[in-house]
Amino acid sequence: MTTIFAKLVDVTRCDGCRACMVACKNWNDLPAAPEEFKGSYQSHDKCNAFNWNMLTFTEHEAEDGRFEWLFRHSACMHCTDAACVKVCPEDALHYTEFGTVNTNYDKCVGCGYCVQNCPFSVIELAKYTDENGKEYEKAQKCTMCIDRLREDMMPACVNICHMDALVFGDKEEMEAMALERLAQVKDRYPNANIYNPIGVDGTQTFYLLAEPPSVYGLPENPKVPTSATIWKDYAQPLGKAMLGVTTMAVIGGFISNKLFNKQGQEGGDHDE
Ligand code: SF4
Ligand code: SF4
Ligand code: SF4
Repeated sequence: MTTIFAKLVDVTRCDGCRACMVACKNWNDLPAAPEEFKGSYQSHDKCNAFNWNMLTFTEHEAEDGRFEWLFRHSACMHCTDAACVKVCPEDALHYTEFGTVNTNYDKCVGCGYCVQNCPFSVIELAKYTDENGKEYEKAQKCTMCIDRLREDMMPACVNICHMDALVFGDKEEMEAMALERLAQVKDRYPNANIYNPIGVDGTQTFYLLAEPPSVYGLPENPKVPTSATIWKDYAQPLGKAMLGVTTMAVIGGFISNKLFNKQGQEGGDHDE
């Protein structure tokens, strides 16, 4: 039986040091991608093609009137039922042997449907130029350090975290640990909760939050768009059986474009 692994992010332990951001950049050899200073301690608006994890800084007034900073290590959630996998017409986005979600860069054609449909906005296209000067794009996001996992090493961000805010292991063990920690912090954080959303069948990056998900900028009830489910689970297998894989790949590109290239039409909450 395959073991599903998960990263538990316990935000109640995070001190906002951002070592996880640096470790990710360092291990994955990601270039600097600075953004304009917007008057916040937060370095970037959100995760992007060259910042696979990012610390959100939220100013929050506690129920007793205290002012506090809330920190959240954000990265790909590695959804069990992943919208990005569902909408990818090339099967470039796929599930791995660890239960995580990865990109096959050879298959990715840079169509951007994954970017438009991710409920957590953590995947982006990176631009490259080949030796002939031709530009192309590939989807980029946290890989859960799969190269390290295959060598029995922890993800780089987990390895560096000096507060034990990031822990990694068998998902069932991580869920048990999250429940234990939740019980421990309830006195201090009465709104504490575990965020492992059922709308996407749970996630392999999941949270112990001190406040409701929306306070941290997380969707309360993320779901895979219905159009994506119809496409991947019904239309595509039926089409392949009837028309063959190659014909369906061509038709798939066209239909995917119609179904998913809809920015500004269905809004960005993907909660249909
Ligand atoms: S390394 Fe740990 S303590 Fe530091 S910012 Fe990341 S999650 Fe928080
Ligand atoms: S968080 Fe977004 S990019 Fe990551 S697996 Fe889920 S849908 Fe895909
Ligand atoms: S698991 Fe690896 S790739 Fe993902 S955020 Fe952590 S260091 Fe980056």
